[in-house]
Amino acid sequence: MFIGHFGLALAAKRVAPRTSLGTLGAAAQWVDLLWPLLVLAGVERVRIDPGNTAFTPLDFEYYPWTHSLLLVLVWAAGFAAAYHLRTRYRRGTATVAALVASHWVLDVLTHRPDLPLAPGSAARVGLGLWNSVPATVAVEGTVFAAGVAIYARSTRPRNRTGSWALWSLVAFLALVYASSALAGPPPRWAGRGSPCGSSSSGWRGRTATAPPWSRTARNGGRRWRRPRTGRWWL
Ligand SMILES: [Zn+2]
Repeated sequence: MFIGHFGLALAAKRVAPRTSLGTLGAAAQWVDLLWPLLVLAGVERVRIDPGNTAFTPLDFEYYPWTHSLLLVLVWAAGFAAAYHLRTRYRRGTATVAALVASHWVLDVLTHRPDLPLAPGSAARVGLGLWNSVPATVAVEGTVFAAGVAIYARSTRPRNRTGSWALWSLVAFLALVYASSALAGPPPRWAGRGSPCGSSSSGWRGRTATAPPWSRTARNGGRRWRRPRTGRWWL
């Protein structure tokens, strides 16, 4: 999910008006901000697998440190503690904690069963909304539109810049989302064969997981280019 998370962040402004929209957005997307860093570090794994779901070609093989229920709750507590130390704003603290945790709930709605409950746990959950592009866009678009409406009603722009800034942000997020929904899988890596040498389909393998400096990312001394996955917010 992408703009659905921002929809909740926008709506949360009504609950915690003194918390900045930037902080609310960062809280709602916190684990997705960490996720690419852990993938780059080789701690978590994702691979390109067109058809994995109708909406995304990404197969989230291993991401318990950012996307398991237990760790999301730990991140929520940590984010809230840092926010509280900085602001002492209790309502905002509870709101950012709820937003960080809400990410997992919304992801359960969209992901196929790949979300772990805890590191080391074999149980995976996910309701698989991504199996239908129209249903995904309808649900996520509704959550986003509701969030925009709540934000617009509960705030007042100080000047024209404030008004333009909000609608520019809304248009930007909608555009990014639309281009993502219409985009196909990323182009295959340049070079001969499969970077990991274990694939017959060409897409499979650990192509999206190996950092460019790792041995996996090299083949005969040749460095492979990392594909642009296009969707890092999942
Ligand atoms: Zn996510």
